[in-house]
Amino acid sequence: MKKHMVNSNPFKNAIRQLDKSAKIINLNPDVHNILKTPIRTLQISIPVVMDDGKVKVFNGYRVQHNESRGPTKGGIRYHPKADINEVKALAMLMSWKCALMNIPYGGAKGGIVVDPRKLSHGELERLTRGYVRGLNGFIGPNRDIPAPDVYTNPQIMAWIMDEASRMSGYNVPGIVTGKPIEIGGSQGRQYATAQGGIFVLEEVCDLEGVKCDRNSRVIVQGFGNAGSYVAKMLHQINFKIVGLSDSQGGIYNQKGLDPHQVEAYKSDNQTVVGFPGAKKLSNKQLLEQACDILVPAALDNQITSLNANRIKAKIILELANGAVTPEADEKLDRKKVLVIPDILSNAGGVTVSYFEWVQNLQQFYWDESEVLKRLQKIMREAFKQTQATAKIHKVNLRMGSYILAVSRVAEAIKLRGY
Ligand code: NAD
Repeated sequence: MKKHMVNSNPFKNAIRQLDKSAKIINLNPDVHNILKTPIRTLQISIPVVMDDGKVKVFNGYRVQHNESRGPTKGGIRYHPKADINEVKALAMLMSWKCALMNIPYGGAKGGIVVDPRKLSHGELERLTRGYVRGLNGFIGPNRDIPAPDVYTNPQIMAWIMDEASRMSGYNVPGIVTGKPIEIGGSQGRQYATAQGGIFVLEEVCDLEGVKCDRNSRVIVQGFGNAGSYVAKMLHQINFKIVGLSDSQGGIYNQKGLDPHQVEAYKSDNQTVVGFPGAKKLSNKQLLEQACDILVPAALDNQITSLNANRIKAKIILELANGAVTPEADEKLDRKKVLVIPDILSNAGGVTVSYFEWVQNLQQFYWDESEVLKRLQKIMREAFKQTQATAKIHKVNLRMGSYILAVSRVAEAIKLRGY
């Protein structure tokens, strides 16, 4: 690959990070090989009767990376650019994330190649039900448990739960998480990814030598589940939100933006772009604006070797999976930008998904304060263990989190045998 080119194969990037950590911990080569490949990869075609009566066939995937620590877990993405390498990379990341949080899951991920914004409610429901039928036998509360990801939401999770329950002949709430509260969802799940990120950010802000306080300026890329909640919650605790964006572009105002007002504007106009009083920018430009904390909360491969040197933030809270490429990581390290890696920053989502699954299996539900107390404890412990590991090995937080996570999965593989 030429030096100036960006490696856009996310699975290769994921393997690169694995290889790097494997070298540091002197990982057994057999275990290393096992971890390089997902244990199962399923590709399905999903015929859907569209509203005009024509049948359209969609491509869907589900990848299970490793199940040594428990049933596999991971979101489902509906995106026109969803592809198998991305799903494989995200499944691997889920194995590391669950191990880092020390929750009893392996990693998985799913995707359908579709732009759900172009489908009617009925088409979206039929597509989702078709996907579940295609995954029959592959997913289950003790096997593989999906959840929301980009362009999927609690309604879609409800259809997944319903279709799986119809096929079983009885209610199976534990087959999927991120459900609406009324049918077995957990308190706090909607904003858990953002909340988990904020718990970690608060730990980082308490570190010596880190310039971060309640007046810090924040840019958030992406205004969906992760991005809109993190912006609103940071605004609530007096961080200054100066930039926001969605798939249409970005907005920036150095005096600060009220994310609640931006949300109201987006619900009327389907985009944040055009919000009164803010400068209009492209998503690329937005990442490079002046701020203290940058929160990528949209898609992967956003901070690469091409723009890393132009990033002005001193802290990056990587809520989106794979938003910072390995090449960018190296450049940001040299610039002394503190990157809080995805598998730590955004693990609040899978952690509260785990709580939801536990509550479903027990048919006993917790209140919001119980959920938040347990989430904070897990996020704090994961941060402290990551930081300690990074210190011992003299590496950055990303490598610290990988060393910890890969070692835990490797230990489970060794104990179980292969
Ligand atoms: P979402 O579908 O709710 O929101 C995605 C947002 O990104 C939307 O605002 C969309 O307009 C914006 N977007 C799409 N393309 C863009 C582009 N090219 N540039 C800028 N913005 C763009 O998705 P989400 O659930 O918030 O997920 C966002 C990221 O967070 C993903 O990387 C996902 O894997 C990660 N994540 C989400 C969760 C969760 O619980 N939802 C958990 C862990 C990680």
